[in-house]
Amino acid sequence: MTKTIQALTIDTAKNEWHGQKGFFKREVSMPVLDELNNKKDVVSVIVKVLYAGVCGSDRGMWHRQAFTDMFHNSLEKEEKKLRIVGHEFVGEVVEAGSLVESLYGVKAGDKVSGDSHITCGKCFQCRMGEQEVCQDQSIMGISIDGVFAEYVKIPAKNLWVVDFDRVRPEVCAMYDPFGNAVQSLTRVDVRGARVAIFGCGQIGLFSVLLARQFGAAKVIAIDINEDNVKMALELGAHEGIVIKPAQKEHPYDYDKEAINEIMKLTYGKGVDVSMEMAGFNSSVNNCLEATRFGGQVILFGIKDGDFMIPKFSKMVMKGITLHNIIGRQIFKTWQIAQRVLSDKTNGVQDKMWNTIMRGGDGPVINFSEFSHEIMEEKMKKYPKLIFDMQK
Ligand SMILES: [Zn+2]
Ligand SMILES: [Zn+2]
Repeated sequence: MTKTIQALTIDTAKNEWHGQKGFFKREVSMPVLDELNNKKDVVSVIVKVLYAGVCGSDRGMWHRQAFTDMFHNSLEKEEKKLRIVGHEFVGEVVEAGSLVESLYGVKAGDKVSGDSHITCGKCFQCRMGEQEVCQDQSIMGISIDGVFAEYVKIPAKNLWVVDFDRVRPEVCAMYDPFGNAVQSLTRVDVRGARVAIFGCGQIGLFSVLLARQFGAAKVIAIDINEDNVKMALELGAHEGIVIKPAQKEHPYDYDKEAINEIMKLTYGKGVDVSMEMAGFNSSVNNCLEATRFGGQVILFGIKDGDFMIPKFSKMVMKGITLHNIIGRQIFKTWQIAQRVLSDKTNGVQDKMWNTIMRGGDGPVINFSEFSHEIMEEKMKKYPKLIFDMQK
């Protein structure tokens, strides 16, 4: 008899994508290494998941607003109906394929996090060191099975060995999204810059910490949620702006009041760098309005669907540079993230744990206590949630 484990899933055979929302806890078979029948298992490991983070994209999937095509196409390709979700993790290697230690230096007993993008290593982009845009990649928890499970099988090349003395385990589970913020804040030079961060969910908040860390002269945090703006200020943002609901001609129009305020704070110039971390169409237009002539816009939060940019030519006339952020640079981003998190004097790790995660009180959910209602309640209340997978 095969051993089973508990996992959070979406089953398309039960119409769970289109008909419903949320994730569904089920018994699934324990992943195994079977080198005789699956050659790739020689370079794979089984990880016992200790903590798993709930990403903004998991929230998007919860509400069926993100990755619809990727999710369905991948299941079709695998001839499967059931997907285990989740991709941010830290865990312990319990079994390693026969080539793992000699090729990757990873062995049973190691504590690991890892990148959620499983890249091919063979395409033009991979060969050029641009794995984040690999032409044949899978994303854990979306296009292959993920980490909201007691155990998961992962290719060893994706692992990042961690040391709990340097970074606490719960924060190690946030390497992946923290890496998105690192990737955003290292794409442009923020030294001495005025930076507007639109959207203060988890990655927006991490971006506030990093913008300060990397030497921004003024960080302006903007959100529709007052609590998120308050938290951004606690984390070191110089200014906070709450976007109030307003009568607009179109929902995608920029928010006039917020933009006026940003213009005041930047002496009429606009910010050097705007970061789109909210995912709304209006937020993209806010970024384009808030950015100075010759400035830069980072796009990260965007979800499924078409986006409208009125007066597109204005962006050209302003000479704005757009940067699109996907994933992390493997493993350059991870190295920078580790250095920032390991430095006990900069306060970044402490603020992530004590302020964003409230020291675990509330935002950490015991996996055994998962329910649809608890998730709905906590997703409204906290910017970041983590499952304690062993409780
Ligand atoms: Zn994520
Ligand atoms: Zn590739």
